[in-house]
Amino acid sequence: LALHKVIMVGSGGVGKSALTLQFMYDEFVEDYEPTKADSYRKKVVLDGDEGFLLVFSITEQESFTATDEFREQILRVKADEEKIPLLLVGNKSDLEERRRVSVEEARRKAEEWGAQYVETSAKTRANVDKVFFDLMREVRGK
Ligand code: GDP
Ligand code: MG
Repeated sequence: LALHKVIMVGSGGVGKSALTLQFMYDEFVEDYEPTKADSYRKKVVLDGDEGFLLVFSITEQESFTATDEFREQILRVKADEEKIPLLLVGNKSDLEERRRVSVEEARRKAEEWGAQYVETSAKTRANVDKVFFDLMREVRGK
């Protein structure tokens, strides 16, 4: 049994904690204490190879732009690695009426990175399991 580490990065408020809570506890919490969220996040940290979920909110263009900088940071730290298991995640897909980032532009960016693009909702649980399991598949397959 191999244990893998999931690192979730992205701007504040995009839903990293909410996705983690939904994946682990099947729960969506509208508002919770940030410190609690952090301790939840620690529980998902396991030993072994690391994979990255680069998360932005489809309702916030700035968070989408910020994923470039987050990816560069990862590449700097993991410069020795041939292929870094990484998924681009557009969260808050339930807020379609507030969408500011199109599926097309997100797909284009993921394609440039040679990565998969998946839209999730921590609120409705859409694709929440998928991003974790797809990432794990990539970590194992590298
Ligand atoms: P983090 O800073 O990236 O950890 O973001 P949080 O997980 O704390 O989420 C920030 C806010 O967005 C909270 O109020 C969440 O309830 C809300 N949120 C997170 N994910 C979703 C989602 O998929 N849909 C909706 N509607 N709200 C979300
Ligand atoms: Mg958080």
